[in-house]
Amino acid sequence: MTPERRNRAVRAAVEQGLLSEERPVAALLDVAGIKASATALKEAFAGVTEAPVLHAFAVKAAPLVPVVALLNGEGIGAEVASPGELAIARAAGVPAARTVLDSPAKTVRELREALDLGIALNADNPQELSRIDALLAETDGVRSPVGVRINAQVGAGAIGALSTATATSKFGVALRDPGARAAVVRMFLDRPWLTRLHTHSGSQGVPLARMTEGVRELYALAEEINAAAGRRQIDTLDIGGGLPVNFASDETTPTFAEYAALLKREVPGLLDGRYALVTEYGRALLAKHGTILARVEYTKVSGGRPIAVTHAGVQVATRTVYDPVSWPLRIAAYGPDGHPKTGAPVPQDIAGPACFAGDLLAEARELPPLDQGDVVAALDTGAYCFSNHYGYNSLPRPGVYGYTADATAVDFRLVRAPQTEAELVAESGGAQASALL
Ligand SMILES: *Cc1c(COP(=O)(O)O)cnc(C)c1O
Repeated sequence: MTPERRNRAVRAAVEQGLLSEERPVAALLDVAGIKASATALKEAFAGVTEAPVLHAFAVKAAPLVPVVALLNGEGIGAEVASPGELAIARAAGVPAARTVLDSPAKTVRELREALDLGIALNADNPQELSRIDALLAETDGVRSPVGVRINAQVGAGAIGALSTATATSKFGVALRDPGARAAVVRMFLDRPWLTRLHTHSGSQGVPLARMTEGVRELYALAEEINAAAGRRQIDTLDIGGGLPVNFASDETTPTFAEYAALLKREVPGLLDGRYALVTEYGRALLAKHGTILARVEYTKVSGGRPIAVTHAGVQVATRTVYDPVSWPLRIAAYGPDGHPKTGAPVPQDIAGPACFAGDLLAEARELPPLDQGDVVAALDTGAYCFSNHYGYNSLPRPGVYGYTADATAVDFRLVRAPQTEAELVAESGGAQASALL
């Protein structure tokens, strides 16, 4: 989102009372920005292929029903990886035909549900495939498109915890292990109903060239299997998600269009119309469109370092707090009235409310001097942050508000109500208070 649009939204949020003593944290989502990213994704692939493409939003990036419904309205489906995510996608109205189930740990119950609903699923490993064999033997005919997830083992990115294509990644069939490739070909020849191949080789920190390499491996394997089958058994390739996001400025880079153009150049056969495609983007669709607002409760100086103690920390920006080097966030400073703060920047720690020393959104960050009652904004937090709450210190889930702006006004819609203390108690065994007495 542009700084102007963000500044207007922050001011309106403050003026309209979204932040208060009781609710010192609020999260904003830029509806127009989300729609623009959805359009950019669709146009990027429409520009390089005439094949049908299902863009399935990776629900884990922002598991909020109204967000999934917004994207569904833009023609974007859902990639789900747990019963909860599937329930969210269904509550958002995503049709089965636009839903894809991944996950390395699907239970028999989940597999049965997906097959009953006709949801596409990608088997992670041979044991899962055997379970699907058994389930299909109970039913007459396969309604769900079924694929196999492979790990092309093309190597890690800059963030180990997010690297899905290392030699020892837990996801998919490790294609370069001895005998694995032949075994995957066999899986398909033995099962005429297997029609898809899946890989998710990208993520934050993975260079585009490496992601492309994973997709090239996927394509080459599909060609090999189809040749061995003597027919176009594999009709759909799921290339996963993982386009990295720029957290350093307001610029969107890389773009979906750049990645699509790279695929066109490096793996032209993938896009020549013979294969339908599935994509599973999460972070790149949402991250730039979210902002966390938090009140500054106190300011102090410790060891010469100015510190602003705010209400946003590990509960809303978990990865940043535990791994600040991999997940730096930009912070913007506003006054109590929601206007951008001015003043010569000084290095300050932006601390969260949680009771451990590492609970910092930013360390020694150059910002105009902050005071009690000011507001800090953590930028680019639309994915994997406030939507993926972490319940440390029983800090409540903040309210999430989607906004649209016209020439005169900013309009907020409630996306997720702030969690109340009664709800916190209830989910903490409140109804079982005497269970251990
Ligand atoms: C997490 C995940 C995605 C989305 O990744 P992003 O980096 O958010 O785009 C897509 N597919 C699978 C299988 C995933 O696990």
